[in-house]
Amino acid sequence: MVKAEGVHKSYGAAHILRGIDLEVQNGEVFCLVGPSGSGKSTFLRCINHLERVDGGRLSVDGQLVGYREKNGKLYELKDSEVAVQRRDIGMVFQRFNLFPHMTALGNVMEAPIQVKGESKAVARERAERLLDRVGLGDKMGNYPSQLSGGQQQRVAIARALAMEPKLMLFDEPTSALDPELVGDVLDVMRDLAESGMTMIVVTHEMGFAREVGDSLVFMDGGVVVESGNPRDVLGNPQHDRTKAFLSKVL
Ligand code: ATP
Ligand code: MG
Repeated sequence: MVKAEGVHKSYGAAHILRGIDLEVQNGEVFCLVGPSGSGKSTFLRCINHLERVDGGRLSVDGQLVGYREKNGKLYELKDSEVAVQRRDIGMVFQRFNLFPHMTALGNVMEAPIQVKGESKAVARERAERLLDRVGLGDKMGNYPSQLSGGQQQRVAIARALAMEPKLMLFDEPTSALDPELVGDVLDVMRDLAESGMTMIVVTHEMGFAREVGDSLVFMDGGVVVESGNPRDVLGNPQHDRTKAFLSKVL
């Protein structure tokens, strides 16, 4: 579903991603861990076209992200073409970024209506189903300010799912939450994983990674240091940098 081959990304003189190689299979839960500043969010932002890679190849579902290849040369896609690619990718951030002036239901209905031109009736039916699925069937009329952080994050997940993405990206979705609210969000993510969704999850929740993850990559300094089955990498890390990191978070 996602293939990165020697992906590089700089911000000005700061060389952040220094040749990322990895492959995410269809239906896989792929966990990305690593120290602060190692480039995890930057990599997710490249997958979701929020940043353009400036070296190597990155593809989603067989399509190069942000570029078209012709006669061996790469051409940047137009913004409108990028927007079409981005539709299929859902993203959930650490901060929920809900529209404050809309109810939970309104938040989940918005993108399919605005982006896909869907009818209100169809969008509403799906939004109700999704909010039910994330355990918020009784909170559909609440505004974000009337929801807990964990509830807001579950609305954010439902909102991303409303676009019927083929890939979901999660960037530390539980790290801004009070500890007692984390479980409900992880349960929703576990349910989504069981439904077969392809997911890339940046997280410090090693229990989740071990139980739900199919693969785990440890990143440091903009490269993949170590990867494999989460149980193996977490239980028996091979590299000193992985060991040092895990000794702090486990
Ligand atoms: P964290 O665990 O703290 O979220 P991360 O692994 O997600 O860290 P990134 O957010 O990808 O790290 O940042 C990697 C590096 O890129 C950092 O040094 C950061 O300061 C830098 N960086 C990120 N975004 C930008 C930007 N828009 N402009 C310049 N530098 C940036
Ligand atoms: Mg980050």
